[in-house]
Amino acid sequence: MSAQRALRLVLLGPPGAGKGTQARILEERFGALQISTGDLLRKHVADGTSLGLEAKSYMNSGALVPDSIIIGMMEDRIKGENAFVLDGFPRNVAQAEALDAMLLRLDKPLGAVLLFEADGETLIRRLTARWSNPRTGRTYNSETNPPKVAGIDDEDGGPLVQRPDDTFEVVQNRLATYDAQTAPLIDYYGNDGLLVRIDGLMPIEAVTAEVMRELALENVTPA
Ligand code: AMP
Repeated sequence: MSAQRALRLVLLGPPGAGKGTQARILEERFGALQISTGDLLRKHVADGTSLGLEAKSYMNSGALVPDSIIIGMMEDRIKGENAFVLDGFPRNVAQAEALDAMLLRLDKPLGAVLLFEADGETLIRRLTARWSNPRTGRTYNSETNPPKVAGIDDEDGGPLVQRPDDTFEVVQNRLATYDAQTAPLIDYYGNDGLLVRIDGLMPIEAVTAEVMRELALENVTPA
């Protein structure tokens, strides 16, 4: 791919494939805002909002939170932004259709949909070893990408926690939810030529290099 694509991206792929990690890197290097539905929902849960109270039981069981909650929340978040990386949205065809309609109305077409691929065994291993900073969303892996001091974030020195939905049982439900509801988006976006497949098994830096190569990102000026 030679032409540069607009930095309006959807990151697609199963939980644990590296979407959040790469979204954060794209935000740091290229100024495209990371918008993570999971992070937004976890903030609502932590703040005890009515939206959070409604979302919590779905999240803790590994099911999707209803579209009626998600679509309005994302519309509010996206509308003022020109460059963004959507991490964890859309998660089913109805959400993808709502996103298309929203971006058409805003005249901000997507530049690409990056599909991060990894096998189930790797995903389970990664998620059950994942530690994150609940304040910033930054993640570590106790085996492959540990913090300098166990349980402490290198960046802000705050405590790291394991997410309640990163247990073995809930991870299995999340993977099944992905296969049943989110994987159909591979065809949805494949059909309009936006889909770019990325090998999510590579080390973090190699995945970033591949993303930059696919998006011809060397020359991008931050938005
Ligand atoms: P994530 O941090 O992306 O793994 O999301 C954590 C949980 O939040 C998911 O298992 C869902 O319960 C919920 N969630 C996140 N994004 C969405 C979405 N786009 N639609 C519905 N539920 C979502």
